[in-house]
Amino acid sequence: MTFATLGLIEPLLRSLETLGYQTPTPVQAQAIPAVLAGRDLMAAAQTGTGKTAGFALPLLQLLAMEGPKVTANSVRALILVPTRELAEQVHEAVRQYAENLPLRTYAVYGGVSINPQMMKLRSGVDLLVATPGRLLDLFRQNALKFNQLQTLVLDEADRMLDLGFSEELANIYRALPKKRQTLLFSATFSDDIRLLAGQMLNDPLTVEVSPRNVAANTVKQWIVTVDKKRKPELFVHLMRKGKWKQVLVFAKTRNGVDALVEKLQGLGINADGIHGDKPQATRQRALDRFKASEVQILVATDVAARGLDIEDLALVVNFDLPIVAEDYIHRIGRTGRAGSTGEAISLVCADEVNLLSAIEMLTRQTLKRQSEPDFEPEHRVPDTDASGQVVKKPKKPKKPKASGGGGKRNLGKWVDSGEAAPVEPSIKPVRKVPVFNTGPRKRKP
Ligand code: AMP
Repeated sequence: MTFATLGLIEPLLRSLETLGYQTPTPVQAQAIPAVLAGRDLMAAAQTGTGKTAGFALPLLQLLAMEGPKVTANSVRALILVPTRELAEQVHEAVRQYAENLPLRTYAVYGGVSINPQMMKLRSGVDLLVATPGRLLDLFRQNALKFNQLQTLVLDEADRMLDLGFSEELANIYRALPKKRQTLLFSATFSDDIRLLAGQMLNDPLTVEVSPRNVAANTVKQWIVTVDKKRKPELFVHLMRKGKWKQVLVFAKTRNGVDALVEKLQGLGINADGIHGDKPQATRQRALDRFKASEVQILVATDVAARGLDIEDLALVVNFDLPIVAEDYIHRIGRTGRAGSTGEAISLVCADEVNLLSAIEMLTRQTLKRQSEPDFEPEHRVPDTDASGQVVKKPKKPKKPKASGGGGKRNLGKWVDSGEAAPVEPSIKPVRKVPVFNTGPRKRKP
């Protein structure tokens, strides 16, 4: 199969040739013809599957081939994304695909001055990439009209709900024309996402390129158990031992990011950090330097690293496990992209056993454990498995009352930690914000 057989026009084919895309990925093969045919789409596709081109290519083609010229302050296609970084990244991809088309594209997001954005929108934009909050600000200040809008894309919709954007999405939804094409992309299909899809999509085609909620199988994943206070030391030890070249490291909090970066820099290691408290320009600079291999270790919170696309990133380290199990899939999606192999290592302490269990349930695998000599934890991490079992350290069996007592038969269930049990998760590890409710906001972790 080629991009030409999917029905893409010559100017797009030329751009793809320049970019070196030869064969459509599975999500592209399914999404492109459906979008060109005008269908709504509900696609379960992780980052790294080529989903951006899956929606952007047919969208650009429809804009180039159909519809009136864009008028002042109007927009004809809108791509909503959860973070500024993803907005920049998606727009950059769109810009490359649209290189040979006479279309105006632009990206708007918060954290930077709104005035240049208002100026730019004056003459209208064919395709706008936006974060929900800034889009609403622009709409409310009359810098933006939706009367010409023909297509809406919700990219990483699960993440938008996780970040508390459900109210913004509801407000945007009310402002859009009822007759439009809508495409929803999400790494995971939670019940809330299905509810959102039910409200926003019209007879959608469902595209699922990997089994539901299963992490990319091109990524070799394992954990090292360690006491919490020794994590920085273990990280430096593993880094030196493994001669790590470039690593993306995830920490849970902004303070965690700063503390680790400070520690690494103190040891003369070339490290930088990104999180929601840092100005956009500083975040972008750190990302650019990491992409250019000028920074060896980039430490990030989940939101700040969202959408980060770095070619040939071989290793992701979870310095802390994520609170929301789905974030594990997003994190390890930074490596092993577009078919290359990658590695994801998690440093896990006893406090994190329930998070580990939730991740194993979601990904339906028991993560392989490796203990590092001299770093064995004093606080043992109980065994876990993909069924959600957390096996506490067995208590000493009570002395049998009578002879021939049960002894071992009374112990807890032992689990072979090397085994992957294909179990459908039966409970949700973490409750997420309900759709279209004003839930708690956690925009900046
Ligand atoms: P995405 O899942 O959209 O974030 O894309 C992941 C990476 O795969 C990006 O770096 C894309 O440029 C690249 N990519 C997407 N589609 C193709 C393709 N058909 N052939 C080669 N690379 C691709």
